[in-house]
Formats: sequence, structure tokens, C-alpha cells
Amino acid sequence: MRQVSGKVWSNWSGSSVSTPERIVYPANIDEISNVVRQSNKQDRKVRIVGSGHSFTALIPTDSTLISLDDMQGIQHIDKDNSIAHVWAGTKLKLLGESLHSLGYAQENLGDINFQSIAGAASTGTHGTGINFGSIATQVAGINAVAADGSIIECDANHNPELFKAMQVSLGVLGVIAQLRLRVVPAWNMHFVSKRMNFADCLNQLDTLCQNNRHFEFYIFPYSDHTQIKLMNQTEELPDKSSFWNHFNKIVLENGAFKLMSEVSRIIPKFSRSVSRVSARLAPVMKQVGHSHSMFATPRHVRFHEMEYNIPAQHMQAALEEVRACINKNQFSVHFPLECRYVKGDDMWLSPAYGRDSAYIAAHMYKGMPYHEYFSELEKIFLKYDGRPHWGKLHTLKAKQLAERYPKWEDFNRFRKELDPKGTFLNKYLEGIFQS
Ligand SMILES: Cc1cc2nc3c(=O)[nH]c(=O)nc-3n(C[C@H](O)[C@H](O)[C@H](O)COP(=O)(O)OP(=O)(O)OC[C@H]3O[C@@H](n4cnc5c(N)ncnc54)[C@H](O)[C@@H]3O)c2cc1C
Repeated sequence: MRQVSGKVWSNWSGSSVSTPERIVYPANIDEISNVVRQSNKQDRKVRIVGSGHSFTALIPTDSTLISLDDMQGIQHIDKDNSIAHVWAGTKLKLLGESLHSLGYAQENLGDINFQSIAGAASTGTHGTGINFGSIATQVAGINAVAADGSIIECDANHNPELFKAMQVSLGVLGVIAQLRLRVVPAWNMHFVSKRMNFADCLNQLDTLCQNNRHFEFYIFPYSDHTQIKLMNQTEELPDKSSFWNHFNKIVLENGAFKLMSEVSRIIPKFSRSVSRVSARLAPVMKQVGHSHSMFATPRHVRFHEMEYNIPAQHMQAALEEVRACINKNQFSVHFPLECRYVKGDDMWLSPAYGRDSAYIAAHMYKGMPYHEYFSELEKIFLKYDGRPHWGKLHTLKAKQLAERYPKWEDFNRFRKELDPKGTFLNKYLEGIFQS
């Protein structure tokens, strides 16, 4: 088994750093089992990393870090049931390309594809579309290694309660080794980006949401403009102009934005003007492409992020308050707020548990202060029964989280039964589950 010692690990945003004693790269389930069993016997901690794209301190450890980078790819596809058997370490980009080459796709995805499938599912990573759940709802079965090294198997028929706990489980119930994923026939997407007045956008939320397979929008602080994105299934085929549109979109969303972000960082009072300029530059374009390549846009501009889930019906009221709060406090912020919809589900720790949901995400350019901005917005989200995205910054601890998740105690019961020594906990997770 591949292994490195003394290497500094950091997450994507650079907010979480640690030096694990060793990072191990198992190549099969037995190797995972051996590492976990030995660590557990010796009372040593184990954390699991996907692609390190979470903003919260889920990963840091000074002990053993398990990466499944050597356990990637599709094992096989059960065509009769449209189920792909995949290794848990598979990165979403590889998964999308591999599925496409076999004539399949995922029904929905988020806005980047660097995450691992297990990491994305484990934090409730989502895209947008009120008729689609988060990525974890595509998971139809799980094989994992528990803290004592034993193998757990669960799905809707076999250990169904454990399955509902494991789908979104932050790596505290076990190391997911293999996943069965619900897939759909490969499909092409018609993508539209346009600008819309803020008030018009808010007044049409229900229609835009119901009339499009996927709908999301961006609100630019200090501007009356929003950018809306509509993504629908089409029989049209990708063409060359789509390639150039995509290229321009990447240049605008990365190159030009990086430059404007640096201006805001050096002279924060310019961020209000930068936000207004960004709103005016928001791409107006159409594009057709294979679905797996259309959801994601590379993000080269680094930032910190907080994202909250609230009941879908509160999107409009919450956004009006958020906008008033930004105007009142005159925060130096030029990143737009990203607003999405997700169908309610029944996974115990999913922020969308039991309710169709709206997600509102706030970003701050790396190097600019974000605590006050996030803290004021968090108060608004909590008032609307908010639940934080597990991979994004928030300040909630066990007691507040327990009040927000009906199945919190049931989840914790499984956690204690499966991992009585807390092998899979780090300091941050102790605050989430034990304080
Ligand atoms: C630029 C950027 C864009 C993003 N866009 C979106 C978006 O559109 N929508 C959205 O919802 N989120 C988004 N996120 C958040 C991101 O999707 C989540 O934080 C996701 O969990 C990251 O996946 P990862 O593979 O990097 O997991 P990591 O951050 O490495 O790990 C996340 C959690 O999963 C656990 N885990 C990983 N692998 C396993 C395994 N095999 N078994 C058990 N547990 C495991 C880890 O222990 C950890 O608790 C974005 C983040 C960034 C930086």
C-alpha cells in the first residue's frame, strides 16, 4: 500500500491545514480494513479525505489520513437496474467521463467536479433543481469499513436505517469503499445564462423553478441585477459555438474575476463597484453540451464560503433580508450570492431532510475578512430554520444541530455503536457530535 509520512495536508481554500503522521492510499477494501483495525486497536485516530474541497475542518488529523485516490473508477454497470458500481474514491470528473463513454450520466451535479463521489455524498453536496435531491440521493447502496475493521453493507432493503444514516455521514460512521449509484441514460443539456432585474427575479422564482429542470441565480451585492442560469434537457447536439461560449465563460468567471478580486482585496472600498461591474459583465449566452461537462465550471479564484439550507418557501423573504443586511452594514464584498433549489429527502443528516429546500451561499475572496459578513448572514439563515451545508463554514455545535435535525439522536446512536472509541473523530467533529 502506498504511504507518505510527514506531508503537510491542506484543503482547497487553505483554511484547514494539518500534518498527519501518515497518509495511506489503500488499493482495496482489505487494506482499508487493516489500517482501520490496527489504528483502532492502538487507540489511534483515523480520518478520511476525498479531494479536500470542504471548507470546514472535517479532515485535519495528526494521526492517520486515508485517501482513496488509488480506488477510483467504475467496477461495472448493472444495466437492468441502471446502477453503477463505483469505487468510493472516484473523482466526479472521471466518473462523468466514464459514465458518458458507457452511455450513462448522473441526473444532477454541483458546480465543480473535482470532488470524490464519497466525499460529495458524505457532506450532502448538491446542485440545483427542485425535482432533484443532493448527490447522496443517487446513492443506492454502500459498502464501508467500520471502526473495528469489519465490513458494513447497507441499502434500502438491507440495514435500511443504517443506510439512511450513512448516505450523509461526514466520514464518522466508517470508510466508504464502494458505492452503488443510480444513473440515467446520457443526456444533453441546453444551458442559458442571462441577466434579470432583482425584483423581477424574486417575483418569478416559483415559475423559474417549476419550468426549468435546473434553475439557479446569483445576486450581486450593491446591484439591481441578477444572473440567472437555466439548464434543460435537449435533443440538440453540442456544437462549436458552444465550445467558444464555454471558453469565454471560463475566462470571465476566472481570469477577469481574479483581477477584479485582487483590486477589491487591495482597496476594499472598491468591492462595491466591482460587484456592480461583475453584475453588468455576467455572461448572456446559450450553450448545448453533454450534461456531465456542463454542470461544472473550473474555479481558479480561491474563496471562503458559507452556505445554508432553508425551507424553499422562504427563499424570497430571506434574500430580501440578506440584501438589506449587506446594504446596512456596507460589507466589503464583491462575490455574488449563489441561490439554488433542492428536493427534500429522507437521509438523516441531510440538510434537505424532510423539506424541499432553498440553498443560499455567501463567498468571500481569500485574503479578505469574512467573519462579520458570514456571522450577520448566518443569523438570518438561522431565523429561517437554517441548516448549514456540512462542507461550508458555519458556527453551529452539537446542541444547536440536534435541535435542527429530527434524526440527530438516532444518528449519534449508530455512531457510538459503530465507533465507541471515537476513532473517526477529530477535534472539529468532537464539537459537532459531543459538545
Ligand atoms: C470550489 C468549490 C466548489 C464547490 N461547489 C459545491 C457545489 O456546487 N455544491 C455543493 O453542495 N458543495 C460544493 N462544494 C463543497 C464540496 O462539494 C463538499 O465540501 C464536498 O464534500 C467535497 O468533496 P471532497 O471529495 O473534496 O471531500 P472532502 O472535503 O475531502 O471530505 C468531505 C467529507 O467526506 C468524508 N469522506 C470522504 N471520502 C470518504 C469515504 N470514502 N468514506 C467516508 N467518508 C468520506 C470526509 O471524511 C469528510 O468528512 C464546493 C467546494 C469548493 C471548494
